[in-house]
Amino acid sequence: MLDIIHLLPDSIANQIAAGEVVQRPASVVKELLENSIDARANNIQLIVKDAGRTLIQVIDDGMGMSATDARMSFERHATSKIRTADDLFSILTMGFRGEALASIAAIAQVEVRSRRMIDEIGTLIRVEGSEVKTQESVSCPKGTNFQVKNLFFNVPARRNFLKSNPVEMKHVLDEFQRVALAHPDIAFTLYHNDVEVYNLPTGKLSKRIVDIFGKTYREQLANCEEETPFVNISGYVGKPESAKKGRGEQFFFVNKRFIKHNYLHHAVLSAFEATIPEGSSPFYVLFIEIDPSHVDVNIHPTKTEIKFDDERAVYAIIRSAVRRAIGVYNLTPTIDFDS
Ligand code: ADP
Ligand code: MG
Repeated sequence: MLDIIHLLPDSIANQIAAGEVVQRPASVVKELLENSIDARANNIQLIVKDAGRTLIQVIDDGMGMSATDARMSFERHATSKIRTADDLFSILTMGFRGEALASIAAIAQVEVRSRRMIDEIGTLIRVEGSEVKTQESVSCPKGTNFQVKNLFFNVPARRNFLKSNPVEMKHVLDEFQRVALAHPDIAFTLYHNDVEVYNLPTGKLSKRIVDIFGKTYREQLANCEEETPFVNISGYVGKPESAKKGRGEQFFFVNKRFIKHNYLHHAVLSAFEATIPEGSSPFYVLFIEIDPSHVDVNIHPTKTEIKFDDERAVYAIIRSAVRRAIGVYNLTPTIDFDS
């Protein structure tokens, strides 16, 4: 009998991996922005056309890549960010899987221009459906310029699955805001269809919040700080009177990585208890700084989920930090009529 198992060609393996990593234009935005941050950029421009369907471009002034690295960056599991299994427990970069660019290049037409400070000439590479079309030397500014065109051009089923432009653009804006909030020390701009949507100069977190969400937030922010040997909390919560009906804007960052965490969200809500009407939620942008060995960021490819080894401790610290920020300890204790 003939053996029937064979390894899939890279282009197919990459396309399968892309199914995990790239759900929509916003996923590409997230991966490219995070790469620019890992490259220690000071200035990051995001340019989007048709909600990202036809163009997602990220231009940074970060460390750039050599010609060989630029070519390697499209290989699956190719990364400069970790080397050994031990490194997985001390991750401080946003990326580490080395699968984003390989995945994106499997389902789009990608063009990268990149130059390191020490190089006189940069590199231009075009990849289409995992196939390298050109690699040549070009003169270009220091840093990296990624263009991702015609997302899902070779996967009609995925393309048709995309929502309307306003819905896709909302996801793009969400990703952009998350990254911009986490890095007020980096300047960002966002253009959509040649219109400037955001122009965010560097500054303090409070200024970044106001620049993104509007002037009305200026008076509404309560500073939230708590330092413990195990975890540090910093950031802002909206004062109780500014709580909005519905879900509103809430951001948790763990070591500058945006996360969703229902349990910790509950910690904030419980701190606000009785100060805001039922069914409304407070604004918050909270940074949780913790030794990377106490968290596992490896549980999901898109990494918005995260596991703490001592979730209850983090819960208690957040709750007390928020209570202090909004001055709950000054309020009359609620009377328990049942007792
Ligand atoms: P990961 O970020 O997990 O390492 P990616 O596929 O996103 O994997 O990127 C692969 C590699 O390409 C990175 O490890 C990095 O060395 C390089 N790279 C990607 N984007 C940039 C950038 N904007 N500037 C400099 N190097 C980059
Ligand atoms: Mg990456």
